[in-house]
Amino acid sequence: MSYPDTQLFIDGTWRAAREGGTIPVIDPATEEQIGTVAHAKPADLDDALNATLKGFETWRKMGAFDRSKLMRRAAEILRERADTIAPIMTREQGKPLAQAKAEVLGAADTIDWFAEEARRTYGQIIPARTAGVQQMAVLHPVGPVAAFTPWNFPINQIVRKLSAALAAGCSIIVKAPEETPASPAELIRAFADAGVPAGVIGLVYGVPAEISEYLIKHPVIRKISFTGSTPVGKLLAGMAGQYMKRATMELGGHAPVLIAGDADWEKAAAQMAIHKTRNAGQVCVSPTRFLVDQKISDNFLEAFTSGLQKVKVGNGMDEGTEMGPLANERRIPMMEELIGDAVEKGATLVTGGHRIGNKGYFFEPTVLVDVPQSARIMHEEPFGPLAIVNRMTSLDDMITEANRLEFGLAAYAYARSHETVERIGREVESGMITINHLGLALPETPFGGIKDSGYGTEGGSEAVAAYLDTRFVTTSH
Ligand code: NAD
Repeated sequence: MSYPDTQLFIDGTWRAAREGGTIPVIDPATEEQIGTVAHAKPADLDDALNATLKGFETWRKMGAFDRSKLMRRAAEILRERADTIAPIMTREQGKPLAQAKAEVLGAADTIDWFAEEARRTYGQIIPARTAGVQQMAVLHPVGPVAAFTPWNFPINQIVRKLSAALAAGCSIIVKAPEETPASPAELIRAFADAGVPAGVIGLVYGVPAEISEYLIKHPVIRKISFTGSTPVGKLLAGMAGQYMKRATMELGGHAPVLIAGDADWEKAAAQMAIHKTRNAGQVCVSPTRFLVDQKISDNFLEAFTSGLQKVKVGNGMDEGTEMGPLANERRIPMMEELIGDAVEKGATLVTGGHRIGNKGYFFEPTVLVDVPQSARIMHEEPFGPLAIVNRMTSLDDMITEANRLEFGLAAYAYARSHETVERIGREVESGMITINHLGLALPETPFGGIKDSGYGTEGGSEAVAAYLDTRFVTTSH
């Protein structure tokens, strides 16, 4: 299968960067260069900014009904092309083909849901104090948006921002990931081929810090949305504050998994072995700190470890592969450092811990047990197939440990007692919690963090509100 070189998409045209620069794209399963992506510089960004301003005027004037129809057509095109887009994503990102295809189809569902929401951006009539006065709260699109998205879900990370922005009537410039550029380009192509007018969507790649600084400061941009690590999120949120830009921040996590003494530990072990290795653990909501009641911890650990050992690691293009490589070279030393540090501080390595082979960025699913708080892994997001299993003696201790970190993105729990379920749901500090099943990340449900994991939600009806300004109009005759 041939892998395409990726161009910029500016003012309705696919084109090279003005200076002709490109960045190599590497297949993480083979370490071979498979293509290039155009490298945008300020002159290209100026083109994209001029186009987005024009696109905003066109798009906001189009009725929500017509915008919605174009979005739904894009979703259909994406579904029709899922079988050709999935291998492009697998080649550049590493995930198994089935997961890549599921991501494409999931993106189509997300577009459909936001297309429906586009027709429901209702305002309000507020009862007036005086006869003849009409008071209205009306919603307007905030304006051109700049979005910055990472490489772990090349399409899914963009589609939530893009669909919400388009539903609200905003234009958008996406700075997509340079490591995984071609599948995002196919997402944008589906919108362009559906008939979304020139300038409404722009797509650029380059040096992330240069592009974000240029776009966030620029007066044309009215809102930013970022998904990535907490340190970068804080930097961009600071800049957004300085220039008074609205912002949505979807940042890192360190998800706790609370497994109470009365839990169905077999179900927990089976679900979590699959969930931990999804996308090789490179997921912001990946389960990381397993806090297991000591009464069942041996049973859980054995079942969970054996589940992880059965996961078939390999090239995502190969039939039967369940976990692909890490997405880029820098993840390997990060994993090795975190594991080495934990073992040095007294943790026990139960399974995994090493790179697999010396070609491709493959890493063993890994479990560390009884990890002391002094270990770096107890504070830093592993962003790889690495789980910590610590034994706990009480629910109080589990909740205290779950809430210890500044992260607050996702949490998981397994418990049978209604009282325990209710208490965990109320007391665990996280933007999302799923108890006794895996239920996160649907288009219609909120998706986002609290504390250092960011602010704003990228799912549910609130996600569109993030791209709308409320204006008050009062009239009298
Ligand atoms: P990184 O912090 O260098 O980059 C993370 C993402 O932010 C990348 O997509 C990168 O292009 C972008 N980025 C970096 N600096 C930027 C800037 N100044 N302006 C705009 N974008 C910028 O780390 P990495 O090695 O690529 O990824 C590892 C870490 O990133 C993980 O530990 C994880 O915390 C985080 N991450 C989070 C998500 C998520 O879904 N929340 C996704 C990918 C990475």
